[in-house]
Amino acid sequence: MTKPVISIVVPVYNEEAVIYESYARLKVVLDGLNESYELIFVNDGSADATPAIIHSICERDASVRLIDFARNFGHQTAITAGMDYASGEAVVVIDADLQDPPEVIPEMIAKWREGFDVVYGQRAKRKGETLFKRFTSAAFYRVLQKLTDVDIPVDTGDFRLIDRKVCDALKRVKERNRYVRGIISWLGFRQTGVEFVREKRFAGETKYPLKKMLRFAFDAITSFSYKPLKVATYVGVTVSLGGFSYLLVVLYLKLFTDSTVTGWASMMAVNLFFNGVVLMILGIIGEYIGRIYDEAKGRPLYVVRETLNFARAEVQPAKPVLVSKDEDQHYPLAA
Ligand code: UDP
Ligand code: MG
Repeated sequence: MTKPVISIVVPVYNEEAVIYESYARLKVVLDGLNESYELIFVNDGSADATPAIIHSICERDASVRLIDFARNFGHQTAITAGMDYASGEAVVVIDADLQDPPEVIPEMIAKWREGFDVVYGQRAKRKGETLFKRFTSAAFYRVLQKLTDVDIPVDTGDFRLIDRKVCDALKRVKERNRYVRGIISWLGFRQTGVEFVREKRFAGETKYPLKKMLRFAFDAITSFSYKPLKVATYVGVTVSLGGFSYLLVVLYLKLFTDSTVTGWASMMAVNLFFNGVVLMILGIIGEYIGRIYDEAKGRPLYVVRETLNFARAEVQPAKPVLVSKDEDQHYPLAA
């Protein structure tokens, strides 16, 4: 089986409204490349017709492959699985909803041919996203940059091309609660960006509601920085210095004056404030401990139900009905 030059990895979660359009647009771009390619859809436990649609595409098109997760494992994990299975010399990760225009891929490939190992898409403009999303996202990338020592370029998503070398290096990074684009920055290599306009979602809803966005932000920060723990220490020290000064005042009042009974309001204020600070710091510590717990369990990062068109795809050139089911499940990251 000859290896393709380009692998495209597309994570999909309940994308029945966009998946076919996305396939068609990618196909036009890929056919214009004059390179061999494979198109890998990672179905992240969709509950709609997404896997059925990909099945039917796979039956007609041997260059399309499917990795079907046993349940929803999350966007970053889906990307990771795609990279684990990709066999191309370069791997491109792209969202299914056409917010990342496939037409940028040839530009990325050109940069790669110039010798860059990572070519990330940098969002020059974002269309059709709420003011809230644009603001939180801009703030997030900037706060993250302040907090970490790794140079993670601002306003870049997972839409990027990575060389085989980078992909292999990434496979050795086995951490959970992953922030893939951060890990790629951490790896180093020769990196560059191409600017693009982030389009409106083609159809369907965002799969990142506020709760997931927050979790994602915490994953990013805790994976690359323990500054929040340091902040906890500084806040703790500052607050207890304040507390100690106030204690001196209280002692003075007790020993040298008669006015110790009044002051219920200040008692309450100090109590509530201190309890708030303590709980917040505990919460920060908890975020880290939870992630240590995840690492300690050492479960596989994802579980695959089935794969289509991987092994035997190129063996039967005459008839393009190529469905091959892998018998056993794969745990590539568990080893
Ligand atoms: N996605 C996924 N698993 C998830 C959530 C999202 O595979 O649990 C996929 C989704 O199908 C899409 C990509 O990740 O291809 C980005 O998601 P989305 O467009 O909803 O995020 P947004 O662009 O709104 O941040
Ligand atoms: Mg999107």
